[in-house]
Amino acid sequence: MKGETVEKESVGKRWKTKNGSITIVDDLCKECGLCIEFCPIQVLGRSEHFNEKGYHYPEMLAPEKCVNCGYCQLLCPDFAIWSERDDKQEGERDE
Ligand code: SF4
Ligand code: SF4
Repeated sequence: MKGETVEKESVGKRWKTKNGSITIVDDLCKECGLCIEFCPIQVLGRSEHFNEKGYHYPEMLAPEKCVNCGYCQLLCPDFAIWSERDDKQEGERDE
């Protein structure tokens, strides 16, 4: 029997934020709701659409308000959401 090819490099949807970006791969989400509930800025909402597993995945509602704290990424048990910071931002310090 032929195995399924895992060539679907689902990059997901990416939103540009002030300091980087947020990526959500809809089909990996299992609708636990942690990212939505615990985002400190409350910029995520539950989509009215279903993913391929039948779950409502999160949507970025206000990318301009996201601070790329990475908390959503830390909480997600399914690696369906992640935050990337643009390291070239000016004004960042190590202290
Ligand atoms: S990176 Fe932080 S502010 Fe942005 S969506 Fe995730 S939890 Fe919310
Ligand atoms: S934390 Fe992950 S699995 Fe849970 S709702 Fe958010 S994206 Fe989906």
